[in-house]
Amino acid sequence: MKRVGIITLFNNTFNHGALLQTYALQKTVEKLGFECEVIRFDYKTKQAELTNKSYSNAEQMQAFSETIPHSSKIYNSATIYECNELYDIFICGSDQIWSDKVGMSSCALPHMALSFANEDKLKIGYAVSMGGAYTTDNIKNVLKEPAQKLDYILAREKSAVPFISELSGKSVESVLDPTLLLLKKDWATLKIETNDAPYIFCYMLDLPSNLKKCINELSQKTNYEIKYLSDYSDPIEFITLIANAEYVVTNSFHGTIFSIIYNKQFISFYIDNIQSDYSKNVRIKDLLKMFDICDRYIDIDTPIENCLSIIDNKINYSKVNAILELEREKSLAFLEKSLNAEKDYKFDIVPRSECYNCSTCKVVCPLSCIEIVKDDLGFGFPKINHDVCNKCMLCKKVCPAINSKSKNQEPSFVYITTHIDKNERLKSASGGTFFAIAQYIISNGGIVFGAIYDKDFKVKHIGVNNLAGLELLRSSKYVQSDIENTYKETKQYLDNNKIVLYSGTPCQIAGLKNYLQKDYDNLYTVDLICYGEASPNLFAKYIDFYTQKYGKIININMRNKELGYTSAYKLTFENNRSVLLYGKDDFFSKLWYSFCKNRCYSCGFKSDNSFADITLGDLWGARNYSDIIEDGRGINLVIDRTSKGSMLLENAQIDLKSAENYDTDKYNYTLNTSISHSKVDAYLRSIFKDSSIDKLFYELQMLVSKMNSETQYETAMMLGKLANEYEALMNSKKNKI
Ligand SMILES: Cc1cc2nc3c(=O)[nH]c(=O)nc-3n(C[C@H](O)[C@H](O)[C@H](O)COP(=O)(O)OP(=O)(O)OC[C@H]3O[C@@H](n4cnc5c(N)ncnc54)[C@H](O)[C@@H]3O)c2cc1C
Ligand code: SF4
Ligand code: SF4
Ligand code: SF4
Repeated sequence: MKRVGIITLFNNTFNHGALLQTYALQKTVEKLGFECEVIRFDYKTKQAELTNKSYSNAEQMQAFSETIPHSSKIYNSATIYECNELYDIFICGSDQIWSDKVGMSSCALPHMALSFANEDKLKIGYAVSMGGAYTTDNIKNVLKEPAQKLDYILAREKSAVPFISELSGKSVESVLDPTLLLLKKDWATLKIETNDAPYIFCYMLDLPSNLKKCINELSQKTNYEIKYLSDYSDPIEFITLIANAEYVVTNSFHGTIFSIIYNKQFISFYIDNIQSDYSKNVRIKDLLKMFDICDRYIDIDTPIENCLSIIDNKINYSKVNAILELEREKSLAFLEKSLNAEKDYKFDIVPRSECYNCSTCKVVCPLSCIEIVKDDLGFGFPKINHDVCNKCMLCKKVCPAINSKSKNQEPSFVYITTHIDKNERLKSASGGTFFAIAQYIISNGGIVFGAIYDKDFKVKHIGVNNLAGLELLRSSKYVQSDIENTYKETKQYLDNNKIVLYSGTPCQIAGLKNYLQKDYDNLYTVDLICYGEASPNLFAKYIDFYTQKYGKIININMRNKELGYTSAYKLTFENNRSVLLYGKDDFFSKLWYSFCKNRCYSCGFKSDNSFADITLGDLWGARNYSDIIEDGRGINLVIDRTSKGSMLLENAQIDLKSAENYDTDKYNYTLNTSISHSKVDAYLRSIFKDSSIDKLFYELQMLVSKMNSETQYETAMMLGKLANEYEALMNSKKNKI
């Protein structure tokens, strides 16, 4: 049986109508064959909560609300998303859930239009109401987006239909308030029988003195006593008093409704002094209009002395009841149809801005209906073939952007390490620790996965089981690596009891762990202190540029140490020529920081949220520590995060010492912090698509040529500085680019 969660004005709500419509909607949905409960949602402002506390006799209302099936937990705007785990269908409504007159907090308001509900959930607005025919621009702006995502919207006030249609861009029907969906006999289960003498029931919020006079006259004329009810009393008493009254005088919307249900002689007064379609009077006027009994409405300008004759003028209830029956049928049909609709939705796994471009979703999809499409920079995003997708949601389950919390609870330790063999350090990016760990795995018959260049210098992951293969994995390729089929291969090896070491960026390790969905004793993982992955397309342009200049490239080393432990690139060409490029001379090394994938600028896998057993990075700033020997061959900063990590470090051929005194934040800030965009990034990216790398560089030169000559050379070489100049340039309007 499908589970339905209703969100409405319920939690800590001390209003007869609000609670009775909640009761009625829950009962109706249940009668239609669904498991249904009301979500307790803390929707009020602090001020409204304080007012609540002042209600001395609210216990009876509280007791009534306890009888309505509801969630055990009270959710707030931060936790309401958890409800997606509990319900298949959500309903928002009814009463004034889209009103600014009910003490609603601004962060709660969008949730009253189900903004918290996932796209796969069926979302229905039933008898939604703003009280009036429209609402303020402020509320309109907040509601617009979630209202557009509702699958069905049924409005309570007919006058509000044009406004809600425009707001949501959907066709909107008007339906009955939920209290009118139940029959008199349904309410009879609540009603308390009384043997009171005939009376007039007066249920008004503020009772104007002239009206008091009129009611007294009615009392004298009929010899009936007048009964009043406190606003915060038991809703059952409220129904009972109406059901047994001879006359009802009210300005309450639900007071009017129950008068109609019980076929009472009544008059309904205006509630708002404002005479516009924005006022709450609209709801009573619309209701009376539907039953063709508008004469029962007493407006601000109706002479009070007319009230006596109006109330005595008998209502034609056979006509009213016939209308009610028809409208009830129509409303129930709308509700039933929307509850039983098969949701045909198209969903994105995550918004593009949140995607790690890791392809884990594609790997897991059992129907192979995810294609990875590349953006201008060469980063891949999933595109779902919705004609094939069966909405199993496995892609969401493994997505590191959604399931981003590491389960690793063990304390971590920071070390300084180097491979014991100085030559291995020279060949590695940093201190060769990865190589030492990988050697240990291979010598124990295991498989090691990591990034290589293919023959076209595209970076991709592969698995190797020998030392020759390990050479390919060695050293950093600062470009996004394609994981290809390696997650699946890893699982196969693990299931066949092979030892596996998987290395990659933190988001790749998170993707792998989510994909596997269980812990394997034979899996070891290593991630990297990660600045970010550069654009594959930028790298391709770079390769093109040097190929055209010097011929076919046969090797690229982005961490060459011929002139010491720094970031130098060495490109070797087929004709045995090579170029050694330092940061300031090499435009890829300067440009790539502007061309990382978007998520690198807000990475969720920093600090202790790594999913890996070990994190490896560079130990920069060694010269500032007398106990660290900087011999130009490279040193690792290592974070040991699990007992598996400790085991690897104990068995790898490395020198290891504690890094307790090392200032990681100062010398290696990317361990804990994401990079930020430079001020020229947006401009560079905007010209990227159609530019070759030399055109891109030319554009940079052009920027620089507009600056003063002293900074020209330096700025051209140092993008960081260029950023400031660029900003200044942009700010000085006369130098527009
Ligand atoms: C994109 C990227 C950004 C980095 N940013 C920083 C940083 O800001 N600060 C810092 O201290 N260290 C950074 N590192 C890590 C550093 O460059 C070394 O990789 C690390 O210190 C390990 O060095 P090593 O000598 O132990 O092993 P190495 O021999 O360098 O081993 C390299 C390991 O990294 C993997 N690898 C290489 N390229 C990629 C890639 N593109 N994608 C996924 N895995 C890859 C290989 O599979 C191998 O496992 C980064 C590495 C990469 C790949
Ligand atoms: S919901 Fe299932 S079938 Fe559809 S794309 Fe995701 S993994 Fe594939
Ligand atoms: S699994 Fe990876 S590629 Fe797929 S949506 Fe999530 S972050 Fe993006
Ligand atoms: S910085 Fe974060 S998002 Fe970017 S590659 Fe590294 S781990 Fe992935």
